[in-house]
Amino acid sequence: MHKEKKIERPKLIIGLVIDQMRWDFLYRYYDHYGNGGFKRLMHHGYNCQHTMIDYLPANTGPGHTCIYTGSVPSIHGIAGNDFYDVIDRRSRYCVADSTVHQVDDSNNGPSFSPRNLLATTVTDELKLATNMRSKVFGIAIKDRGGILPAGHLANAAYWYNDKKGTFTTSTYYADRSPEWLKAFNNRKVADSFTKQNWNLLYPEKDYYQSTQDAVSNYEKGFPGEKTPSFPHITDTLADTDRHSILKSMPQGNDMTLAMAKACIEGEQLGQRGESDFLCVSLSSTDYLGHQFGPNSMETEDMYLRLDQSIAAFLNYLDNAIGKGQYLLFLTADHGVAHNANFLLDNDVPAGIPSPYTLGNLNDYLAGIYKQNKIVDTILNYQLYLNKPLIATANLDIEKIKGSIRDWCNKKPQATSIAYVVDMEHMDRSPLPEPIYTLVVNGYNRLRSGDMEIIMNPGWYDYGGKQTGTTHGTWNPYDTHIPLIWYGWHVPKGETDATVHMTDIAPTVAALLHIQMPNGCIGKVIPFEQNENNNKSRD
Ligand SMILES: [Zn+2]
Repeated sequence: MHKEKKIERPKLIIGLVIDQMRWDFLYRYYDHYGNGGFKRLMHHGYNCQHTMIDYLPANTGPGHTCIYTGSVPSIHGIAGNDFYDVIDRRSRYCVADSTVHQVDDSNNGPSFSPRNLLATTVTDELKLATNMRSKVFGIAIKDRGGILPAGHLANAAYWYNDKKGTFTTSTYYADRSPEWLKAFNNRKVADSFTKQNWNLLYPEKDYYQSTQDAVSNYEKGFPGEKTPSFPHITDTLADTDRHSILKSMPQGNDMTLAMAKACIEGEQLGQRGESDFLCVSLSSTDYLGHQFGPNSMETEDMYLRLDQSIAAFLNYLDNAIGKGQYLLFLTADHGVAHNANFLLDNDVPAGIPSPYTLGNLNDYLAGIYKQNKIVDTILNYQLYLNKPLIATANLDIEKIKGSIRDWCNKKPQATSIAYVVDMEHMDRSPLPEPIYTLVVNGYNRLRSGDMEIIMNPGWYDYGGKQTGTTHGTWNPYDTHIPLIWYGWHVPKGETDATVHMTDIAPTVAALLHIQMPNGCIGKVIPFEQNENNNKSRD
């Protein structure tokens, strides 16, 4: 075998997913970013400025899955963080698996695996392409953020145990933790991070992109806090509280990146003469964002600190793997809405409906059809009909759908609803693009509801909560995500062409000369040489 004929691949591929990072956060806080973090990627990598999510719901499980499968819930099956199994008639968490257990845990309760995922990931395809010689790992605070990217053939996925302040895995991957993970956990990184407390990185006046801290009505503080404002004191809290709050602190990102380094070193990733793949997902941006919203000083401060953490991580990769020897892409699993009350206070249409109470809907239907519980559940804005009951009682399903439409047209729910879509009869719902495509792509026959509610812009269902915010809808704030390529064989440049989240996996596959994932519907993004390539904005 001639060495020079060996296929060229990067030593290490890093997928860096920043949970809930909306595209505009690259620019919203741009003035205060340093040159080594986000700006290094933006100016020296290839920036796909208009990357859109092409399915519903825009949530964490489906997002991480789409990035790595190039596919959509209708095919890959991860139809929500939780979805309802239409045949078993029960709700399922996207990575729940009762056949596996947490390793090194005396309770040994059920744990997590990728078994609900119906398609391969690009990480699976790398393993298949190298006859399993490549190593693949997934790391995140959230189990689903580590598991779904790393795929079925992963060496392991690791996630955070907030009761113990350690990283763990399940027996799906191995019966025991590797020695390097035990050593990492023994360092008690979570403890040392929460003993630092959280204060602003810069003087308060510099946070002019955010609502004033102590006067905000749109935020909810950490447990035990009188006001949701700086400084957030965590060093005096009980261990279990600190370990849990760490998920929502900037230090949660640092702990995850420290774990990524421990994995690179423990497994010799990128240093074994094979292409390895490390999927890193930063969950703290999402935990914090839900609690404080995108107009908070907390979110601004977290991104300014994350910018520094990314800079340090890139420097680490330069040294450990080598400049130009690794391929990195940065993206997000979804964006986020503004807090609706913040918009309302500023005369922008928005709202938080009282939750779509199943009880009210079922009472309404019972009044017409003399049957209780005609709707099984409402999840991800989708209504799941109780088909066995409808069949036994000999009811007309089309009439029921009409009645549900009538209920949606009554106040108070009518105020917040733009469309009610009949999933099996899309032609009856005159949806404009891109909503039509997003609904079709999100509809999994056995895991999605029979009807889907599309909210008015600015509205979201967040269990009636008034503070914080959420995501999940088709609107650009939830579906426009950052996507930047950096490193091995990536030219400097940017494109304004619209690309989709489903295009990420086939583009990785093309760069590596491996097969696209088996449910992939995306297209390879061409790295075009254009005038933007010469734009210097350093
Ligand atoms: Zn979220």
